[in-house]
Amino acid sequence: MQVSPSSERIAALAGATAAQVAIEVVAETGSTNADLLARVPQLTQPVLRWALAQTAGRGRAGRQWLAPENSALTFSLAWRLRIPLQALSGLSLAVGVALSRALAQLGVDTRLKWPNDLLRDGAKLAGVLIETAIDRQDRQAIWVVIGIGLNLTQSQNLSAQLARAVADVGEVHVDREQWMAVFLAELSSMLAVFEQEGFAPFVGEWNALDAYAGREVVILDQGRELHHGYTAGVDASACLQLDTQEGRVSVAVGDVSLRMTEH
Ligand code: ATP
Repeated sequence: MQVSPSSERIAALAGATAAQVAIEVVAETGSTNADLLARVPQLTQPVLRWALAQTAGRGRAGRQWLAPENSALTFSLAWRLRIPLQALSGLSLAVGVALSRALAQLGVDTRLKWPNDLLRDGAKLAGVLIETAIDRQDRQAIWVVIGIGLNLTQSQNLSAQLARAVADVGEVHVDREQWMAVFLAELSSMLAVFEQEGFAPFVGEWNALDAYAGREVVILDQGRELHHGYTAGVDASACLQLDTQEGRVSVAVGDVSLRMTEH
């Protein structure tokens, strides 16, 4: 019989930085992001919602996130940030740094792909989707819902299904409560820093983890090429710096996609 995960154990393992977070574990849901976004008006504290099975996961721009049963960790963290809306652009990159730190502690080496992916051996290991809602009580605050899907196994099937390279952790029997605790602790401490100082403290680490540093890439907007050049890191506004034939351009986080050039 499968023992259901314990919120208490996750909280105990996550420690003091995550003490104010309510932890929920559900057997199955459509999308943990959708669940938390719908509840924002009633939320009074940060919430971590972990679904053992997620059936309608979402990516950016309405894209789908697949999570084959028992082969992925899918969860969302709702958090209230007192920051101006324009300071939010670096958050998906800071989340990448926090996840990469967490996975390093768990023995998994990762790199980051601008703006929101975690790669392992050049293929996508995890995706991050951040959605926001205003706080009706406090106009200076924003609720962010940070959704994460991490492949534990099944990367070969996913690759075949999606016709693109997908990575996984390579181990399905991990201590999932401990992994969730490490993610929660790293995300909580990152969010505390981000709220005070924005993305700036994470720039150096992000650039050191950049999977595409110095590479020739194209930036696509709905399949149409916007820019073509060599990557030169991100700045404190989380914009990707690209050296093109027309000089350096700064690409803001939006719904654009980054791809290696095909030669
Ligand atoms: P891209 O990764 O193409 O640059 P993106 O960063 O906007 O785009 P996301 O919104 O993060 O993409 O994720 C959605 C995309 O990820 C889907 O279109 C699909 O190609 C891919 N995908 C879906 N499920 C998985 C999964 N479990 N593992 C890896 N990739 C996946």
